[in-house]
Amino acid sequence: MNSFEKVCNDKGLRITHQRSEIFRILASNLTHPTVENIFNKVREDLKTISIDTVYRTIATFEEYGLVKRVQLDNITRYDINLSLHHHLICSNCKKIEDFYWPDFDKMQLPNTIPGWGKVDMKQVIINGLCHQCKKLKK
Ligand SMILES: [Zn+2]
Ligand SMILES: [Zn+2]
Repeated sequence: MNSFEKVCNDKGLRITHQRSEIFRILASNLTHPTVENIFNKVREDLKTISIDTVYRTIATFEEYGLVKRVQLDNITRYDINLSLHHHLICSNCKKIEDFYWPDFDKMQLPNTIPGWGKVDMKQVIINGLCHQCKKLKK
């Protein structure tokens, strides 16, 4: 929470109760939530908040570099982890976890890529079964 307030102060973003609440949910154990996920959660406390407000607040957070938008499983989600990382997606429970792969990050792209165009990021998505789902399927 301190970091949210610090970033807001540093970047001149006004701290409102709504923004604090939405950020708190983004930073909670809910990983890679969609706007709908955040809306459903924040509504528990802020009963009158609209989904448009949540959309706008998250767009502001994105603009100020507080969250990163990620496209995972064909769904737009928001990631509070701003460091370079990759994702593991369980095809059964749909749980998304972060993992780090510094060797990959350092790797050169194949020669064919620069001819294709401009690369903004390279990210790995690994699909499979998480530990818990693997156990259940046995
Ligand atoms: Zn799973
Ligand atoms: Zn992530």
